[in-house]
Amino acid sequence: DGNAMRMEISARSDNESFARVVVAAFCTKLNPTLDEIADIKTAVSEAVTNCIVHGYENGPGVIVIRCEIEEETVTVVIEDYGVGIDDVDRAMQPLYTSKPELERSGMGFSFMEAFMDSIKVESEPGEGTRVIMTK
Ligand code: ATP
Ligand code: MG
Repeated sequence: DGNAMRMEISARSDNESFARVVVAAFCTKLNPTLDEIADIKTAVSEAVTNCIVHGYENGPGVIVIRCEIEEETVTVVIEDYGVGIDDVDRAMQPLYTSKPELERSGMGFSFMEAFMDSIKVESEPGEGTRVIMTK
């Protein structure tokens, strides 16, 4: 059966590249192409950045990252316990951002959708946000 890993990191921007590299390293068990690794890194980077700049906009917190490989598919789950999202469908629309003043482009979820095979977002205001992606 599947191989899995779980890591918990402080929601700090200097941990973003670390998270992306760890997930990419775990995925090498699948013998991915360089393109596939780049796609996974981009998706992880967008999801982790969102936890930091949106989820924990009010202060520090932790991000939990889980990966599981089943057959030829990796599932990556990135979760925070921050402010949550009240309208997930709107948040996932291309170009939607709640922070235009910070020069965000509102493309994070669109990149995750484009670079992974599937993405599901579960969120509860005041509880946090979970992004589940597969490739
Ligand atoms: P960009 O990713 O292009 O810098 P962005 O982060 O605003 O801009 P998306 O990543 O697509 O765009 O996210 C869209 C919106 O969803 C965000 O503006 C924010 O309101 C909300 N959001 C996304 N992730 C989270 C999260 N982990 N916690 C709370 N809100 C979130
Ligand atoms: Mg974003």
